[in-house]
Amino acid sequence: MAQTQTQTISIAYHTHRLLPEPDVFIHSSHGTRIPAHSALLASVSPVLENLIDRPRKHRSSETIIQIQGVPGAAVTAFVGFLYSSTCSEDEMERFGMHLLALSHVYMVPQLKQRCIKGLTQRLTTENVVDVLQLARLCDAPDLHLRCMKLLANNFKAVEATEGWKFLVNHDPWLELHILRFIDEHEIRKKKSRRHREEQGLYAQLSEAMECLEHICTEGCTDVGPYDAERERTPCARFATCQGLQVLIRHFATCQKRVNGGCVRCKRMWQLFRLHSYVCHHTDSCRVPFCRQFQLKMQQNKRKDDSRWKLLARKLASAKVMSSLSLPKRKRDEEMRVTINNPGIRSYKLL
Ligand SMILES: [Zn+2]
Ligand SMILES: [Zn+2]
Ligand SMILES: [Zn+2]
Repeated sequence: MAQTQTQTISIAYHTHRLLPEPDVFIHSSHGTRIPAHSALLASVSPVLENLIDRPRKHRSSETIIQIQGVPGAAVTAFVGFLYSSTCSEDEMERFGMHLLALSHVYMVPQLKQRCIKGLTQRLTTENVVDVLQLARLCDAPDLHLRCMKLLANNFKAVEATEGWKFLVNHDPWLELHILRFIDEHEIRKKKSRRHREEQGLYAQLSEAMECLEHICTEGCTDVGPYDAERERTPCARFATCQGLQVLIRHFATCQKRVNGGCVRCKRMWQLFRLHSYVCHHTDSCRVPFCRQFQLKMQQNKRKDDSRWKLLARKLASAKVMSSLSLPKRKRDEEMRVTINNPGIRSYKLL
């Protein structure tokens, strides 16, 4: 019988411990043979511990552990990690996938985490399908999710890879699973885009409410209460204020009015109405129709009340969101303005 040519690899065991003579040998593909220490292997891997402890045919025969199916150099890197708890970037680059499989099979969680991190950093459209399948086999949900997201975001490129073509031919269930994920991913993206747009709209409305109050209380460049000192310089929110002032002027002079079907008047009317829902100081409020709307609300609970209340709540939350998204410095300034002007809110006019 022909003897297989074996080559003994000596590992630079990165440890400060004084090691006894090796008492176990790890055999890998291509005939490499790595001397190792049973006590150490058993302490880092429960699976290796079982293999070492299993009864041998002859008491005198040496303990041999076979690690087949991966390149010999990957096994060397694996054993190196068991001794040193480290793995070089080069080893991760070349054997990351093999090391993940080994760490899973031999239950070495430290190495598994290292591989998940290493493979996540090295994910490309070229290797994503292979890494995905491995992540499923090795029970690595974080890595699996990363792969799915990369796939969903770059599906056109992935579709052209050999890995994808192979998967389509050999694992239709996984293909279906991936396609379903991509669909859901698209829906999620659309939903969050819609949510952002809605938030933007509510933030605009909320700003319009603030401008309306400011115009009717302090007055801005063109419109203001008859007894207020008119500010001639544009205010901080002038873009909104200016449009609103034009709308108020129109509302005051329009011949068609709301009942005549004027769209602009109707919009202004809705803004007045919305204001009355968010206004907290009815008695001192100078916004037109504020009191009338509030009295009406108290008198007859109208059916569409809840809809307006919901809108008012959404405006309030959009205001909070947009104030949170301001840079901190600006937020502080805004706070200061409010604190320094306590009169604005309680300003009583004749
Ligand atoms: Zn203004
Ligand atoms: Zn009009
Ligand atoms: Zn009011």
